[in-house]
Amino acid sequence: MSSWSILCDFDGTIAVEDVTDVILERFARPGWRAIEDKWRDGQLSSRLCMQQQVSLLDMSLDELDEAIDDIRIDPAFPAFVHAVQRTGWSICVVSDGLDYAIRRILSQYGLEALPIYANHLTQTGTRSWRLDSPWAASGCSVDSGTCKCARARLVSTAQQRTLLVGDGASDFCAAEHVDFVFAKHRLIEHCRAHNLHHVPIVGFDDAIHFLPALKHSSEKIHQSALQSLELRPHA
Ligand SMILES: [Mg+2]
Ligand SMILES: [Zn+2]
Repeated sequence: MSSWSILCDFDGTIAVEDVTDVILERFARPGWRAIEDKWRDGQLSSRLCMQQQVSLLDMSLDELDEAIDDIRIDPAFPAFVHAVQRTGWSICVVSDGLDYAIRRILSQYGLEALPIYANHLTQTGTRSWRLDSPWAASGCSVDSGTCKCARARLVSTAQQRTLLVGDGASDFCAAEHVDFVFAKHRLIEHCRAHNLHHVPIVGFDDAIHFLPALKHSSEKIHQSALQSLELRPHA
């Protein structure tokens, strides 16, 4: 039986919205959109983009907490975590978002013990903040604050397969370094275009449904998982 290590994106995958966008729209001083445009034009890496945007935040800790507590998650995510843990596999959150927000949100669901690899948010004054990227990696084409492909390479061993659950651009580099992808939104098209082993999902209800296919696959993981995963219960 294959053992799997599961890497799970946060914004847009676990959380319904993008937490960083919500916070920037609410609390950033003017200028954060121009920084975003530079990133879109390829003039700025996503790591530097977020660092500069966070330095424009003007909010108290209470205001931040209030905004975070409005964020909703996919209601099936806690059940997915428990299903993974029952099989004895490992699961962690890898995110190019904010560690503080992720931990606070997950703790509302009793999931604060999940390992989180994300950018580190530090309060530097009553209303000022700084972003550090302890999981950035040089040599990654994306240069995100959290390099997900580096994390994927770390957890992948001969005995352990890696599964990525994600939805967007911050997952592109990792998608090419894992054994299988549960893909949402923009990540579906990326996996198709690059011929990556994946199955499209709408949310964690689907992910729960597809877990047993991973459990029963053996050497020919790609073929067998693909075959069983293609037997979707609904379109
Ligand atoms: Mg995402
Ligand atoms: Zn990477």
